[in-house]
Amino acid sequence: MIVTNQGQQQSVKFVVDTERCCGCRRCIRRCMENVWQWDEENHYAYPKYPDECVLCLQCEMDCLNNVIDIYPVSTLQVDPLEYSAGLNRREEAKGGSKTWQV
Ligand code: SF4
Ligand code: SF4
Repeated sequence: MIVTNQGQQQSVKFVVDTERCCGCRRCIRRCMENVWQWDEENHYAYPKYPDECVLCLQCEMDCLNNVIDIYPVSTLQVDPLEYSAGLNRREEAKGGSKTWQV
């Protein structure tokens, strides 16, 4: 599973080998930002709220099976127009009308 977010301050790419997740849930307990959730149906942990990640890398270090890889993505690689367009799309999807500008 690959999950990416595009934050204004920082972006992060999670690569999680869910097939090897043993269900220890250490990532869920360790993450102070509550990024991780347990998927009851598929029996693996996954980063449900990647926007909250502060890149402390604790979950990656604590994962017993070493199935988590976290890649910080430089904000310089994020096109500001793409970023604001993405925010607008998300706001519209939520029914809001806020317009973000850079
Ligand atoms: S890097 Fe830190 S903040 Fe981000 S998901 Fe892992 S434990 Fe949570
Ligand atoms: S720490 Fe690793 S093995 Fe344990 S639940 Fe999280 S992803 Fe799965």
